[in-house]
Amino acid sequence: HINISDTLKHLHIDVINEAFSTGSKWGSSAGAEVKTVTSPVDGKAIASVKMATPADYERAVAQAQVAFKTWRTVPAPKRGEIIRQIGEALRQNKQHLGALVSYEMGKSLQEGLGEVQEMIDIADFAVGLSRQLHGLTMHSERPLHRMYEQYHPLGIVGIISAFNFPVAVWSWNAMLAWVCGDVCIWKPSEKTPLTAIACQHIAQAVFAANGVEEGVSCLVIGDRAIGELMANDTRLPLISATGSTRMGKAVGATVGARLGRSLLELGGNNAIIITENADLDMALIGAVFGAVGTAGQRCTSTRRLIIHESVYDAFKQKLVNAYGQIRIGDPLDENNHMGPLIDQAAVAAYLASIAECKTEGGRFAVEGGKLEGGAYASGCYVKPCIAEVENHYKIVQHETFAPILYLIKYKTIEEAIGLQNGVPQGLSSAIMTNNLREAETFLSVAGSDCGIANVNIGTSGAEIGGAFGGEKDTGGGRESGSDAWKVYMRRQTNTINYSTSLPLAQGIKFDL
Ligand code: NAD
Repeated sequence: HINISDTLKHLHIDVINEAFSTGSKWGSSAGAEVKTVTSPVDGKAIASVKMATPADYERAVAQAQVAFKTWRTVPAPKRGEIIRQIGEALRQNKQHLGALVSYEMGKSLQEGLGEVQEMIDIADFAVGLSRQLHGLTMHSERPLHRMYEQYHPLGIVGIISAFNFPVAVWSWNAMLAWVCGDVCIWKPSEKTPLTAIACQHIAQAVFAANGVEEGVSCLVIGDRAIGELMANDTRLPLISATGSTRMGKAVGATVGARLGRSLLELGGNNAIIITENADLDMALIGAVFGAVGTAGQRCTSTRRLIIHESVYDAFKQKLVNAYGQIRIGDPLDENNHMGPLIDQAAVAAYLASIAECKTEGGRFAVEGGKLEGGAYASGCYVKPCIAEVENHYKIVQHETFAPILYLIKYKTIEEAIGLQNGVPQGLSSAIMTNNLREAETFLSVAGSDCGIANVNIGTSGAEIGGAFGGEKDTGGGRESGSDAWKVYMRRQTNTINYSTSLPLAQGIKFDL
């Protein structure tokens, strides 16, 4: 049983929390706006936070600039050792932090704990990476010359994160940025500031114990106004922003106009193709977890099922049966499959999407709707629903961040891939098949256009070892594993002449 007041105490969440932190120091401007954070689970106030002003943001940036000068000179493996300790601190705090993620955001406790596990995993990954920030060595065309490349720290990394992965997204960025020698300023979602405050305390205890200078980890609590300051700020060479495509287009344009670097992780409209050669029982688990997990509020949530006409009716029936068994309620109760949406505005958007779908001709195989009263008194609980649609409907082309699953019928694999790719977003995709030709066609140059393409796994979730992100309206960024670290560093090519003459490249002669 989770006792939330114990959890808040353990994680150093006060009744009213400060607006910014440069590490050990916390503060707020006089008269700062105070915002109460309520839980979508039961509608109760959890704690309050002060909202940062531009002056608070300035104080964070000034301290981050100071910290960068020393942090970048710490050898990368030594930085990695500190990240290893942060991973240990996360292990010790996993239960409490996972519970707070669940209570503040509304995902199931299992998923809250899973999110903290991802933070631990990326910390481990970053520790190994701290000894592998490799550049290449090239052969010079000139005699007695050596050429190589190296990666240097970039500076202050601005992290703007979304509510749905309130802590993991920060860690994917911060753990890598820190081993790369960067310092971070994090602006979490205004909907989930408390888990961010908890993370800042956990990381800072480790930095302080290691005598690390104030400012390596900065936190600024605010809404889009602080995000806009970050996007405009030439002192932040990289902005890593996770959220809606609307936000990403604004941030990308602003950062691009100052020729800064942006890493954009935006919305998805993810589909599973279920072929006539699929294992339908496996497909069912992938589809239902993908659509209903986190109440459909994952960037990788399954939004569309593209089903071969020969198995369409049978699979639809399986889905309807499975949806009849989904238990909706308090996400901290492990008997429930699905918790609430983040807030009542999200419920309104869900209801509007259902209405629009019906107007466009969608037929509901499982009806949706808002759940009222009793355990649902927060007003944030809805029913997961299933609609039979056509891919070109405007509502199907749009990412509704809620448990609405669209069914689409196809005849040929080429048609299925065309439907899968026929949306503005390009994050995650999957095919369920035991047929080699279908699987390889799906993964080929003529296959899925998404950043993630899976075979016999659903669209939802990913391992930290791979590069994570997507194409088109998803923003093109890649973070987490593989060589995603390179975006957090600046690359330099070095040529060294150890001869006694100065030959020019391309054989050019310049005699004096
Ligand atoms: P959102 O776009 O409303 O907000 C995300 C963050 O951006 C918040 O911190 C917000 O304050 C900030 N922000 C909003 N407008 C801004 C602006 N103009 N300038 C600077 N900052 C701004 O998104 P949300 O509702 O919190 O999250 C849901 C969305 O995030 C979905 O579209 C989901 O698919 C996406 N998401 C994507 C990924 C991914 O990795 N691709 C991961 C998680 C969530």
